[in-house]
Amino acid sequence: MEAMLHTQPTSIPSNCFSNSLLLPNRKSKSNIFYCFYNIKKKVKTLNHDFISHNFKIQAVDTNAPQLDFKKLEGSTTKSGYNSISWPSPEDEIPFWKREVPSWDITLEGPVDIKKDSDLMQIVHVTAEMAPIAKVGGLGDVVSGLARACLSRGHKVDVFLPFYECINKQHVKDLALVNTYDSYHDGSWVSTNAYRGVVSGIPVILVEPSNHFFKGQYVYGGSYNELEAYLFFSRACLEWMQVTGTQPDIIHVHEWQTGALPLLYWDMYHHLSLKKPRLVLTIHNMEHYGECSKEQFSKCGLDGSIYATEEKAVDDRTIGHNPERISLLKGGIVYSNAVVTVSPTYLKETLCSGWLAGTLIRHREKYCGILNGIDTGMWNPATDIFLPAKFDAHNIEEKKTCKHFVQRGLGLASEGHPMGSYAPNKVPLVVCITRLVPQKGLHLITHAIKYVKEIGGQMVVLGRTSDSRVEREFEALADLHNNGSSIRILLMYSEELSHMLYAAADMVLVPSIYEPCGLAQLIGMRYGAVPVVRKTGGLADTVFDMEDQSQPEMGNGFVFEGIDEASLNWALDRAFCYYREKPNEWSAIVQKVMGIDTSWNNTAGKYIDLYKSVRVRE
Ligand code: ADP
Repeated sequence: MEAMLHTQPTSIPSNCFSNSLLLPNRKSKSNIFYCFYNIKKKVKTLNHDFISHNFKIQAVDTNAPQLDFKKLEGSTTKSGYNSISWPSPEDEIPFWKREVPSWDITLEGPVDIKKDSDLMQIVHVTAEMAPIAKVGGLGDVVSGLARACLSRGHKVDVFLPFYECINKQHVKDLALVNTYDSYHDGSWVSTNAYRGVVSGIPVILVEPSNHFFKGQYVYGGSYNELEAYLFFSRACLEWMQVTGTQPDIIHVHEWQTGALPLLYWDMYHHLSLKKPRLVLTIHNMEHYGECSKEQFSKCGLDGSIYATEEKAVDDRTIGHNPERISLLKGGIVYSNAVVTVSPTYLKETLCSGWLAGTLIRHREKYCGILNGIDTGMWNPATDIFLPAKFDAHNIEEKKTCKHFVQRGLGLASEGHPMGSYAPNKVPLVVCITRLVPQKGLHLITHAIKYVKEIGGQMVVLGRTSDSRVEREFEALADLHNNGSSIRILLMYSEELSHMLYAAADMVLVPSIYEPCGLAQLIGMRYGAVPVVRKTGGLADTVFDMEDQSQPEMGNGFVFEGIDEASLNWALDRAFCYYREKPNEWSAIVQKVMGIDTSWNNTAGKYIDLYKSVRVRE
């Protein structure tokens, strides 16, 4: 890291500034209305996440072994057990949509974090943030890292598009800060910037007055996504310019904000922004942000100047007419430091994929930092979505969570061994994922069949935007959801995901590739033993229980092949452990819950990186 760039990345040719840009409107400063108008009462709450279509289940098969809940509820002396309002598949409101007490995550934060002495101002510019605009791990990572840096005393703000689907009730102290103009495609778009606080993290929500970011979901609205994120990247810099904000670090994420470093070095750095240095985290190399030169030019930089091999041309299109641009490649070239989310994925990305050449060229500023999880947000001891709380020293109530979910989904249940945590004969496997090829769709569909065959239960919670995949999983749901052992729920639900991790004996992550993976980390925190394919961050975080070379590291079941037999082998071994070695199983559950996968553990590496590139005045 010694060689980190403190200035403009040296590889960027700087001859393009003068004739390539459209200067921001210098007058825009006068457009600022510092009115701090509190819109809280005026906004209509948008019901964003609760899409329950495709949730087709029936009451459980009456021949299956059942827990007598009436008897159990009457006889138990366990505190809290009687007060649980047990769910049923016939409930008018599914159990994961029940009202829960409001949750002030800021109260959950770690109390014993040492403050750093050398404090910085860090700004994240991102397309996702948990929980208000989360689609996958990116949202979790931004919130977790931001909170970890805040708790060390740094000043942190998160810039996010003000998606129409954001539930404004989840943003505390939401207030309009200013209205300013930002450039798009030959004109200046009036844009509102709102401030607020999400789970203790200050956010700036950028709301253009055009059609960008309108729609029911974070992604997939009826606007051009690439142009919208180009606009957003510039609008964030424009805001910093008009408000005179000069953070030490602007941390951008994924292709969506990959153009920001180009806009910074070739435009705003020549205007008033001098201090910030740029860090890019690549969470997934699958999406490159491809666009034509003309499309790119809509942000105000001349696309033809960036369509070169050393800048942002998509190497795969070299020699084709027309050649195209990759925002992710541009972000790599123009950032002061580039991070990916695990050491193994770092190695994989240097060996394969068309960006490998670019990453090798910029190797001195490219590093792998393993993601953590936000242990305030993911804590089974305090999680408001759980019917019963538990921790590594007291895991009995995990059983209650399992029964709650089994009952709510109409899955068969064997009985509740009150008093002590002991596994029974029917392990519950969960798979919580975006249903995309990367996640090993053929292995997930195979696992559904195989888990049933070997007498386990499985719940898949997943969403897809691909209609072919949706049809395939709908057909599986039709086939299995009436029985007593499999549930396939094609939707996104943050609440249900918490309950499933808590209920699960095992969490399955059979990815074909996985930059880091959070499901296995969250699963472990909730006492679900991971069954994973050895790739990327999964290889860095899960170690096979039976690997004799490092027995002390064992925390799950690992397979390598992408074939069904490899997966069967891992599931067989996990089931065997669970059923035949109950004491060892309880010990593994406690062990995985005790592993520190928190951001508190890894945020320090990001802070060191920030320090290595920042400029001291
Ligand atoms: P990726 O970022 O590739 O989607 P990760 O494992 O890094 O994968 O992160 C996925 C995150 O999204 C986890 O927090 C997981 O619980 C959550 N998640 C994925 N699918 C769903 C879903 N259908 N409902 C709720 N949460 C989901």
